[in-house]
Amino acid sequence: MPSPVVTSIELSSLRKLASGKVRDLYEIDDKTLLFVTTDRISAYDVIMANGVPFKGALLTQISAHWFRVLAERVPGLKTHFLTLSPPPALSDAERSLVRGRSMQVRRLKVFPVEAIVRGYITGSAWKEYEKHGTVHGLPQPAGLKQCSPFPQPIYTPSTKAELGQHDENITPAQAAAIVGERYAARIEELALSIYEAGAAYARERGIIIADTKFEFGLDEETDEVVLIDEVLTPDSSRFWPADTYEVGRDQDSFDKQFLRNWLTENGLKYKEGVEMPAEVADATSARYQDAFQRLTGKTLDEALVGL
Ligand code: ATP
Ligand code: MG
Repeated sequence: MPSPVVTSIELSSLRKLASGKVRDLYEIDDKTLLFVTTDRISAYDVIMANGVPFKGALLTQISAHWFRVLAERVPGLKTHFLTLSPPPALSDAERSLVRGRSMQVRRLKVFPVEAIVRGYITGSAWKEYEKHGTVHGLPQPAGLKQCSPFPQPIYTPSTKAELGQHDENITPAQAAAIVGERYAARIEELALSIYEAGAAYARERGIIIADTKFEFGLDEETDEVVLIDEVLTPDSSRFWPADTYEVGRDQDSFDKQFLRNWLTENGLKYKEGVEMPAEVADATSARYQDAFQRLTGKTLDEALVGL
């Protein structure tokens, strides 16, 4: 088993470069980072006071699984994944703290756009479509219902906001103005191919990936666009159980929807420092574990053997 619920980690053997809402980034050397995923959970861009059991390890193992699967299924795809083994610099105590929840990755220059792909219309996209018939300003066919599939998956980028700020939806043309035409075209092409390969893989395992967000970095030595960050996890995506899917209504989900609903029902949306009751944290953990097992065919314990 990975270490119990951990919302904050200090590794004194490595220099901490950044701490996001969920992950902490450490420097191993000038080409390599240690990506450590805590059990923190954010909803509506606010971090909860307590964590979700096993979430950091589940997210890390889901991403690692996808990096392997996608590298085989998307021609020409490069990813930042190096290894799940922690670097030799860590002490034994630090090793057990990060066991299963850390990954060594290539250090790259992050493109400041979030590459969102939507296969199904829901959430903020559905709200915009209901009002204006558009999604991120792009006109969509008439007659879509809540949670309908789009005729083709669509690329709807957003800006990548600093901690505490909200990302803003932009058009592909605005994304091109931020990163340059050539990189923007490659990011869009990769995002759509990765989504299609990932969605097909998940669908065979009973999960609909309704939408997701990718991040990309630039390998400045080869000028290649590389898939970075976490990938196709319940934190970066909306996962729906395929067996209960129905057009025209909200779907059950494997992700934070359970927590979001609890926050909304209790008037706690956007409040800082909210403590989730154990039932909410455990039910959320169970959903992440269910998604993990369906995708990988393994329990978390099985995935962690040898780590
Ligand atoms: P959220 O994902 O909830 O929006 P966040 O993105 O601020 O929050 P985390 O996901 O917790 O933060 O932290 C991961 C950070 O690491 C992101 O800023 C991401 O852009 C960055 N990152 C991911 N992969 C790499 C990489 N290979 N090289 C450099 N930075 C990376
Ligand atoms: Mg992130």
